[in-house]
Amino acid sequence: MAEVIDGKSVAEDVVQKVKALTAELSAKGATRPGLAVVIVGEDPASQVYVASKSRTAKECGFHSLQHTLPAETTEEELLKIIGDLNADPTVHGILVQLPLPGHVNAGKVIQTIAPEKDVDGFHFINVGKLGTGEMETAFVPCTPAGSMLLIERVRGKDLSGLNAVVVGRSNIVGKPMANLLLAANCTVTIAHSRTKDLPALARSADILVAAVGRPEMVKGDWVKPGATVIDVGINRIPAPEKGEGKSRLVGDVAYAEAAKLAGAITPVPGGVGPMTIAMLMANTVASAYLAAGLQRPSF
Ligand code: NAP
Repeated sequence: MAEVIDGKSVAEDVVQKVKALTAELSAKGATRPGLAVVIVGEDPASQVYVASKSRTAKECGFHSLQHTLPAETTEEELLKIIGDLNADPTVHGILVQLPLPGHVNAGKVIQTIAPEKDVDGFHFINVGKLGTGEMETAFVPCTPAGSMLLIERVRGKDLSGLNAVVVGRSNIVGKPMANLLLAANCTVTIAHSRTKDLPALARSADILVAAVGRPEMVKGDWVKPGATVIDVGINRIPAPEKGEGKSRLVGDVAYAEAAKLAGAITPVPGGVGPMTIAMLMANTVASAYLAAGLQRPSF
């Protein structure tokens, strides 16, 4: 059976390191890291994510700000708030919780965030820095950055000679994940909905990352024996066995089957999921170090 990669424990290590770095920063007399989270509207899932981000920011010792805005907020009002946060020297990270209401142009809002405060890593400048290997000042999207840390725990930092297959080509997960693996010297293939014979391609992967959003799509016989399997998917499916109307979370990988062949695998929940918020904290403390003219800490 595969080694189970414990994302909860790695995420906790990251948070502990962020706390220590925050304490070191104030010992050096610099401003403590500040994270501003902006949420528009009442989407219940977004409310839960934002509360969790703000709670972890406080736990890390950050100056934590939250702007909770009504669904009717105009694009102009939102852009003004972002402009103010860009200019605020106590804020090092700005996160706008997605999705935004339909009348707001999300792309425009994200591109208004100052790149050096874009701790979600969605600004074109940060996308370009990741693509060109300008890693000293790049902010990498949190989910692939966290997935990469989990891969490093199993395989080390240099992945020379390994084949990686990333299933999914979104800007938030698939593409940045592929760039990170390439930077670590993997030979990378990106698969998507138009890919032919995905099972055979997946079987060539020493590192297989599934970021699709389809419950248990990756079957056990898609996995090369000994492969490292990273399941980014979070899918809620009905679970009548738990009672009427109940549901449970599964990933994009058929875990029980895949764990029989994989060398190491992330569970869902408890794998990639907890890493996302931890990496948001890591990006924010890194931003504060860069703003203070100090060397960027590594994770
Ligand atoms: P997305 O934007 O919907 O992208 C899904 C990708 O999967 C697309 O590139 C799509 O291909 C590809 N795809 C869809 N059906 C496919 C199929 N049958 N065969 C091969 N490829 C297929 O999703 P995302 O934002 O990247 O998220 C992916 C999953 O990760 C979701 O379950 C999401 O909930 C989860 N997620 C988790 C976290 C976290 O752990 N914190 C964070 C973000 C996302 P095309 O491009 O050809 O359409």
